[in-house]
Amino acid sequence: DNGIGNWPTIHRVRHPDRIALIDAANGAELTFGQLDARTNALADALARKGIAQGDRVALVTLNSPQMLEVVLAVAKLGGVAVPINCRLQAPEVQYILGDCGARIVFSSPQTAPVVAAAVEGTDVSEIIEIPSGEQRAAGEASQSPYETLIAAGSTERVEADVAADDLAMLMYTSGTTGFPKGAMLTHANHHWNAINNLTAVEGIGPLDISLAAAPLFHIGALGIFSLPLLYVGGTTVVLEAFTPDAWLDAVATHRVSVAFAVPAMWAAIDATPAMGTTDLSSLRYGLCGGAPCPVVLIESLTRRGIRFAEGFGLTETAPIACVLDIEDTVRFAGSVGKPALHVDMMVADPQGEEVSRGEIGELLVRGPNVFIGYWNKPDATAEALRGGWFYTGDLATCDDDGYYRIVDRKKDMIVSGGENVYASEVEQVMHRHPAVGEVAVIGIPDEKWGESVTAVVAVKPGADVAEAELITWTREQIAHFKSPRAVYFVDALPRTATGKILKRDLRKRWSADGS
Ligand code: ATP
Repeated sequence: DNGIGNWPTIHRVRHPDRIALIDAANGAELTFGQLDARTNALADALARKGIAQGDRVALVTLNSPQMLEVVLAVAKLGGVAVPINCRLQAPEVQYILGDCGARIVFSSPQTAPVVAAAVEGTDVSEIIEIPSGEQRAAGEASQSPYETLIAAGSTERVEADVAADDLAMLMYTSGTTGFPKGAMLTHANHHWNAINNLTAVEGIGPLDISLAAAPLFHIGALGIFSLPLLYVGGTTVVLEAFTPDAWLDAVATHRVSVAFAVPAMWAAIDATPAMGTTDLSSLRYGLCGGAPCPVVLIESLTRRGIRFAEGFGLTETAPIACVLDIEDTVRFAGSVGKPALHVDMMVADPQGEEVSRGEIGELLVRGPNVFIGYWNKPDATAEALRGGWFYTGDLATCDDDGYYRIVDRKKDMIVSGGENVYASEVEQVMHRHPAVGEVAVIGIPDEKWGESVTAVVAVKPGADVAEAELITWTREQIAHFKSPRAVYFVDALPRTATGKILKRDLRKRWSADGS
């Protein structure tokens, strides 16, 4: 397979002295040579615990350079890493551990109680704790079980006989639309995603320094910049937990050049006062994806001088599917650009036939970065992978020039009075109202309309607006049938750990009490 299966090892020779990882907690740097030796030792230690090719090793941890070490060490062994959302509760973690059959789990001090409860009744025989950022900063890490394990392992090269199409990772989708499903990603998927990342983002390469601030258990932070830069010999700074001020501080301290974050993070960065006083001159490229990005936010960040672009992807595509070129950001704001180099995309009708340019249909993706199915879920796999295409569940358009726009999730589309209403179109408009901080548009079951367009809004700090005013204002911008019939106000919208709005919860709440 030309070594695709062993990509985590390539830089031991080529760039042994370059910095691979920086720990934002204490500024500690790890070269590619050291990373290679440490991941060999970890792989050896895991092998001696019985982990062999194909075995699953789970992680329920906060971000750390060690988390990336585990992912690489498991890949070297031909094992399967299973990064799990560290904000889940014990029964949710237990479900995933049971589903994937992991034998070993890495935890953090912060997640230890949840993990201890979650392993009950599963195949997990050992929990290994990664020291927290605070412990690493205090110099207390060297005595930790994690470091003890590495110290005891042999640094001799480990290179399992893995094939490109062998399973490398199970990544559970966050389940905004149902039960989490384990997307099966192969070594080849990671390899091609790295190539797609490196070719879709202008000039990114070994001289870049990225900041992993979004959770690494999600494909966004892992597959955008982190794994690709490890692949190409660049540097990744790892931040344990995101706050806008910690993010700005890390960018300035480590001269970060490229950063990926989800829209909710970019909005927080844009809103913090420290934004105006931090030296961001090193940052040459900001990428946003994972959820619809308000055009007002794109405009604001661009005005502040951040070279900013939006991309689109999914766990199942490892994740990069398409990215807007930076020079198109303003002109085509709201578009997610064109497919990455080794990706094909098509907008199709329910029969899988391509629709005309500009028409709305389901977005299909094809390419060597596309996953091979959902773990233990043949029905879901058969539904998602058909005729060589991956059916994303997202509705999109493609214009005459080949620029894609995401219109809505199929499941979030509202049918009101027989008309299709695309929530994200209404949200984009409502975001422009000066009092609106966050907004989610949902359909609430309604006897007369089928579904009634409903907005849930969190106003900006210190702002105030009445329901009637917002409705009237929206009706002046878009058709009445698309405008909300009711607006409910909340302090903040419920979100997943990766910043996606939990519309399912909103629908449940407002359908139930209707007030
Ligand atoms: P589930 O399908 O269980 O809800 P999830 O939301 O966790 O899973 P992810 O793989 O994390 O799934 O996210 C993929 C989804 O994120 C896409 O299907 C799309 O709806 C949304 N998304 C990603 N990037 C963008 C973008 N730039 N604009 C709009 N939506 C986006």
